[in-house]
Amino acid sequence: MPVPLLDVNAQNYPLHDGFSAAFERVFKTGHFIMGEEIAAFEREVLPITGASHALSLSSGTDAILLALMALEIGPGDEVLCPAFTFFATAGCVSRVGATPVFVDVLPDSFNIDIVDARAKLTSKTRAIIPVHLFGQCADMEAVMELANQHSLYVIEDAAQAIGAARHGTLAGSIGHFGCYSFFPSKNLGGLGDGGLLVANDNDLALRAKSLRNHGMEPKYYHSHIGGNFRMDALQAAFLRVKLPHYASYTEKRQANAAFYQEHLAKLPGVSFSSEASGTRLVLPQCGEGNTHIWNQFTLRVTGGRRDALKQHLLDRKIGCEIYYPVTLDQQACFAHLPESSLRGCEVSHRHAEEVLSIPIYSELNEPQKFEVVEAIAAFLN
Ligand SMILES: *Cc1c(COP(=O)(O)O)cnc(C)c1O
Repeated sequence: MPVPLLDVNAQNYPLHDGFSAAFERVFKTGHFIMGEEIAAFEREVLPITGASHALSLSSGTDAILLALMALEIGPGDEVLCPAFTFFATAGCVSRVGATPVFVDVLPDSFNIDIVDARAKLTSKTRAIIPVHLFGQCADMEAVMELANQHSLYVIEDAAQAIGAARHGTLAGSIGHFGCYSFFPSKNLGGLGDGGLLVANDNDLALRAKSLRNHGMEPKYYHSHIGGNFRMDALQAAFLRVKLPHYASYTEKRQANAAFYQEHLAKLPGVSFSSEASGTRLVLPQCGEGNTHIWNQFTLRVTGGRRDALKQHLLDRKIGCEIYYPVTLDQQACFAHLPESSLRGCEVSHRHAEEVLSIPIYSELNEPQKFEVVEAIAAFLN
């Protein structure tokens, strides 16, 4: 039985009638930009962000870009961000003319290492972008302590973590801005691109809101240079169909993760820490105080055997993927950055060689999960 890495149709087909009704509703109004669907979506999504203000956007990437623009971060400024994340986190920093400074990540959580972040602070550091990678929060107490001590802005990249929490506080609502993505592979996946920016501060939210629409206030008068970062009304209507089901999607991912943890931990050479002797496969774990929403279930395969496991699974028609094979400090587009931006990311480099994500989407069925476990067992034997 094939087990795809992700099956968006398995989640979307049961909602077909809802999507059709949403399409008809928007189609008949002829109102495709902003308007009531956008307002309703922003109102309805707010509770799973925990923030006070939400702006629907064209993508998660644009959420990060817009946050940087609203904070007026630009040339001469440095922004700390993890070396082990999706490209958008740092790409946006360069796009506003600022300099990304890459920070190493922790071995077990894959999230930003604050000890390393502190070591890479300079007088030019203006902001830090913690990423809540694979669906669980970075150590936000440590991030906020560092930020408060050095007057840094905090932009949470919660693209993979909408609804995740740390000590009960929702991902994205802790820093100055929180950024989310509705790319189809994210936990709340739309029918196309979409994103969200949230803030608690009224003035910051208003500034971002104006920049979302060319800094235009009133119509055709521009005091600031913004862009077009709007979400389509159709996309907002489609996301409204999925929102009421979001909690159940998360519960199923959590159940899938628990299943893997239980069954894989019994196999020889499998543990929850790379420190344990004889470990060949390290399982991901939910960190202390975190509510993990499992956007990815990411194994670490030691001993140079990751690519062999990947091939073994693909041969059995089990989807898997390497998130991420090249760290950001090693990307060609950042090679021109000063050495101070690129040094000291050894843990990230090791992750790039060891990680492999396996299917975790909500609609996986029991036989499929057993199939994944049995294939991994066969590899380890
Ligand atoms: C997906 C993702 C983004 C970008 O979101 P898009 O909606 O694809 O633009 C940014 N950061 C991280 C960590 C992501 O996973």
